[in-house]
Amino acid sequence: MREVKKIGVLTSGGDAPGMNAAIRAVTRAALHHNIEVYGIMRGYEGLINGEIKKMCSSDVSGIIQKGGTILQTARSVAFRTPEGRVQARENLKKHDIDSLIVIGGDGSFAGASIFSREHNFPVIGIPGTIDNDLYGTEYTIGYDTALNTVVEAVDKIKDTASSHNRIFFVEVMGREAGFLALMSGIACGAEAILIPEVPGQIDKLMNYLSLRGQQKKSSIILVAEGEDEGGAIAVSKKVQDAFPQFDIRVTILGHIQRGGSPTTHDRVTASRLGVAAVEALLDDQTSIMVGIDNDQIVHVPLSKTIKLHKTVDPQLLEVAEILIG
Ligand code: ATP
Repeated sequence: MREVKKIGVLTSGGDAPGMNAAIRAVTRAALHHNIEVYGIMRGYEGLINGEIKKMCSSDVSGIIQKGGTILQTARSVAFRTPEGRVQARENLKKHDIDSLIVIGGDGSFAGASIFSREHNFPVIGIPGTIDNDLYGTEYTIGYDTALNTVVEAVDKIKDTASSHNRIFFVEVMGREAGFLALMSGIACGAEAILIPEVPGQIDKLMNYLSLRGQQKKSSIILVAEGEDEGGAIAVSKKVQDAFPQFDIRVTILGHIQRGGSPTTHDRVTASRLGVAAVEALLDDQTSIMVGIDNDQIVHVPLSKTIKLHKTVDPQLLEVAEILIG
């Protein structure tokens, strides 16, 4: 059995609401098991630069309700190189850190997996991204909060859309995944939802708009930024060209989707996953992600979370289709 005495924890890639709740859970769970915890600032970049500080229980007091990440995050070019990862290993050695917990998305897990293999270093991943696009877990930390942010914003847009008889194209985050657009589109009663996973939807949208004629006065169309036309502005231009009579507006929700106080769901998910990550290390696990499936904690090899793609639920696509009025 490997001994776990000192754990390092970092947040990497895009920030997501609930990351603080996960940092808190990792810290408190480790201390509960008499393991020391070291917070690594600014993801892999801080690891390479030696920005490492010992954490105590009070360092994570009063953060469960806060968005962002107290450890900050970064995208590190240096960590993509073997030399950068050697430097990272050296810095862990300086503090006698024997295990690492990485909170982030698939890119962060790719880095974690390579690092673990190259240096035979135990690493556990906690899924933290608003995109919910990680294979092997039903939920990623931040997704539920982002969904609620989108729904709240679109509800407001609907008020003005109906007052002016306008069609609004609302762009939400998701360069490669449409989970956020699909779920929020269903929750907002959107007339159409354009996502990267279902190409060619523009033709369907044109058909729908031509059939509805003048009957319907306002519409909300949810567009994931990575859909195949190139996002809400590109789609709206095509529609405006085809239907010059329509009063069209575009709203790009942007970074507002990353901020805000995490929802109860994200706080509880982050707390469960943080504790599970520490327990996985104590169980001699390495190179796995702790995730949630069927409301149970699961362990999924990092290699799988990187290689395999999570697919959108066809039942949800059907629901969206049926409910368009
Ligand atoms: P999000 O889903 O929110 O974008 P992410 O974790 O996927 O989060 P990335 O920017 O893709 O975010 O990755 C975060 C960091 O992980 C990168 O800046 C880089 O330092 C490291 N990383 C990503 N891919 C690799 C790789 N193939 N090898 C080594 N390090 C990597």
